Amino acid sequence: MTAQFPRHDTRLDRFVDRYAARTHGMKVSAVRALFAVANRPEIVSLAGGMPNIKDLPLGDIASNMASMIASNGMQVMQYGSGQGEPRIREQICDVMALEGISAHPDDVMISAGSQQGLDLVTRIFCDPGDVVLAESPSYVGAIGTFLSYQAEVVHVPSDESGIDPQALRETVGRLQAENKRIKFLYTIPNYSNPSGITQPWERRLEVLEACRELGILVVEDNPYGLLSLDAEPVPAMRSVDEDVIYLGSFSKTFAPGFRVGWVLAPHAVREKLVLAQESATLCPPVFSQFAISNYLENSDWEGQIALFRDMYRVRRDAMLKALADHMPSGTSWTHPIGGFFVWVTLPAGIDTQAMLPRGVDARVAFVPGAAFYADGQGARNARLSYCFPPADRIVTGVERFADVVRNELDMLNIFGVTAPAKHPQTSGPGADIY
Ligand code: PMP
Repeated sequence: MTAQFPRHDTRLDRFVDRYAARTHGMKVSAVRALFAVANRPEIVSLAGGMPNIKDLPLGDIASNMASMIASNGMQVMQYGSGQGEPRIREQICDVMALEGISAHPDDVMISAGSQQGLDLVTRIFCDPGDVVLAESPSYVGAIGTFLSYQAEVVHVPSDESGIDPQALRETVGRLQAENKRIKFLYTIPNYSNPSGITQPWERRLEVLEACRELGILVVEDNPYGLLSLDAEPVPAMRSVDEDVIYLGSFSKTFAPGFRVGWVLAPHAVREKLVLAQESATLCPPVFSQFAISNYLENSDWEGQIALFRDMYRVRRDAMLKALADHMPSGTSWTHPIGGFFVWVTLPAGIDTQAMLPRGVDARVAFVPGAAFYADGQGARNARLSYCFPPADRIVTGVERFADVVRNELDMLNIFGVTAPAKHPQTSGPGADIY
């Protein structure tokens, strides 16, 4: 009789010698086990990046979908175009116009969320060993994708206005001297995940100019763009440069479960992307595309985004006030003008990954900063999200977080070091923290 090994025990992976080399980059991070615990109701999770969709008009959406199936079921439940359905690609051009982008539907390809857009862009550009430049810090899901194609992620020093153009020039110079092949710069100029930073217009132009001079392609990821909380959104980089590859998504402005995003790319790149899309999925989810098309056609989607902005503004304000009221001195954080995230910097010597289990004991979860770097930076940082818990829970969560930080600082002052992590650290983040 063959022995029955527990399925989750990776130490007993009998297939370990068979995996492709690219799976070596598919790292599971150190915190997944804790996030399973963090979903318990007594814990305030400031870790999750899930949009708060509870105010969507579900009844209206349900009846619109019912009539869509009744009138057009044969089409919406059939295979479709590898590039995506023509009508939604037209509508997406109207959505992008709100951020100053003028585009033709032929240059848009639909993807299963912008995450798949990222995957396909990386697939068509990156060979093993190629370099992808990214902000410091950058989106954990993108870093994972780049590593899964065996690309090397190099972080470009960034400040409170995003990527530093001078540092970008120096980084590129250094990499070129090492004969590295740089494939693109990946950037999230609006309300970045995880930093919450928005790149001002002037800075965007400087980065674009540096990239043009250096011959670096720009990949602009903009899932939060329409969720500005204070001023009108800054126009997209793509609005002034048609060579920019632009990623968009309905996940935060409508609902992530449909998994509909898009890539706007120069014509030749778009053709390659469609071939890659056909190999990945034959066609992106047809039903979801029609559902979103229908929503854009029949609902006040801009009004809904305005409601989302009002709701997230209340939560952002609650978090910023609670941080100001409770965090010990020597700590600092960003002040996002949109999106979902605040990036906290703690005094040197603190390790947020080791601190997380103590946070969970204190009934608060956050994402340790190291998740957002490919090179081991971020030990003294944490991402706090205000998108999901209501304002009073956010305040409670920040109070607990501040207490945990205070305890770490006491330990640091008394012993010169903080305690190591208490729990064994296993596996990676679940989908809800991205
Ligand atoms: N890019 C960024 C910066 C994100 O934060 C996320 C999700 N959190 C994605 C891309 C992927 O989103 P989706 O696939 O749902 O469009």
